[in-house]
Amino acid sequence: MKSFIAMEQRYCAHNYAPLPVVLVRGEGVYLWDTAGKRYLDMMSAYSAVSCGHAHPRLLRALTEQAQSLAVVSRAYYTYKLPPLLKRVCELMQQDRALPMNTGAEAVETALKAARKWGYQVKGVAPEQAEIIVCDGNFHGRTIAIVGFSSEDQYRDGFGPFLAGFKRIPYADAKALEKAITPNTVAFLVEPVQGEAGIIVPPNGYLRECKRICHEHNVLLICDEVQTGLGRTGRLLACEHDGIRPDGLILGKALGGGLLPVSMFLARNDVMDVFTPGDHGSTFGGNPLAAAVALETLDLLIEERLWERSAELGKYFLQKLQSLASPFIKDLRGLGLFIGMEIDPDYASAREVCEQLMRAGILSKETHETVVRFAPPLTITKAQLDWAFTRIKDVLNDLHALHSAA
Ligand code: PMP
Repeated sequence: MKSFIAMEQRYCAHNYAPLPVVLVRGEGVYLWDTAGKRYLDMMSAYSAVSCGHAHPRLLRALTEQAQSLAVVSRAYYTYKLPPLLKRVCELMQQDRALPMNTGAEAVETALKAARKWGYQVKGVAPEQAEIIVCDGNFHGRTIAIVGFSSEDQYRDGFGPFLAGFKRIPYADAKALEKAITPNTVAFLVEPVQGEAGIIVPPNGYLRECKRICHEHNVLLICDEVQTGLGRTGRLLACEHDGIRPDGLILGKALGGGLLPVSMFLARNDVMDVFTPGDHGSTFGGNPLAAAVALETLDLLIEERLWERSAELGKYFLQKLQSLASPFIKDLRGLGLFIGMEIDPDYASAREVCEQLMRAGILSKETHETVVRFAPPLTITKAQLDWAFTRIKDVLNDLHALHSAA
């Protein structure tokens, strides 16, 4: 195990601080390391593995497609992309979809679409378009995106950044109304802020944002890269507020935990701003990705995984809330998207994650204080009960350790 860690540290950029475990196999909700030790995956690769590891149906779609036609670029039509586009548009109630690969690329696509829509449809003067974003946002790591982050570390050393973005407090619809000018083309928002530490806005926030955006002819663009496809207990997190955004960004789980597949979806008048040559991606919408994404959507719908997420998420959150640990400062979540905030006076979230790892649970700290619980949506109640006992023991052990120190 140590030699792989040393090799990666020697040859890879040090842009992550992984937990000291070397994984060799994944199946369902479990992962195994080089020594054969089994872990319960409470991380799901930042929600990319919502259907579990190596799902047989998705593996079949992947391998069968790989043997017939995998990547040809969108220089040609294929027989795989159109059915995926139709399915995803119908499910998400959007007119059109533009396939990409990673979440950040789909966010960039949304930003480009919003700006061009602003100039061509809304009539904003050239080079004046403004996009409003939130404090604590996470939309990816490209220079455009980190340029409007409120996190110093994401920005430091990477400037100069793009103009045309304005940041407002999250979960504050009044701040949105105040920030809008005649040049505002879009409001980009996560329905639940994931990387900020699973921040759930009050009920009705998105509904109010939608009303304000509609009134001012501003596009409401929801980044559901992490919250979408069942994670929060609905197919889309915006459904909690009963709204349909003007633009929608999907990623992560869309690739079935096997491939990067992302998309920007929108109304016709937004998507119609793109003409051939405006935008693209060599791998976006390739037949292999399309086959896996279509099978993933079918699986999600047939097994109604968002319902499991709603029911089991509520169950698990309540169980965690029953823990009377001085280490826990806050517990919050929606569906199987739960954040446990650790009181930094007692321990760091990293320390908790390392102890959980020893106890057979894989999670990862978000910032210094939050431990995330976002297992595959296929997890069972019994497996959550098992996790709960381990978490309880870890917190008790930490308590004993810190009291003795
Ligand atoms: N948007 C959100 C809400 C995310 O959580 C993430 C990734 N954590 C991204 C965008 C970026 O996705 P990717 O890492 O695939 O570029």
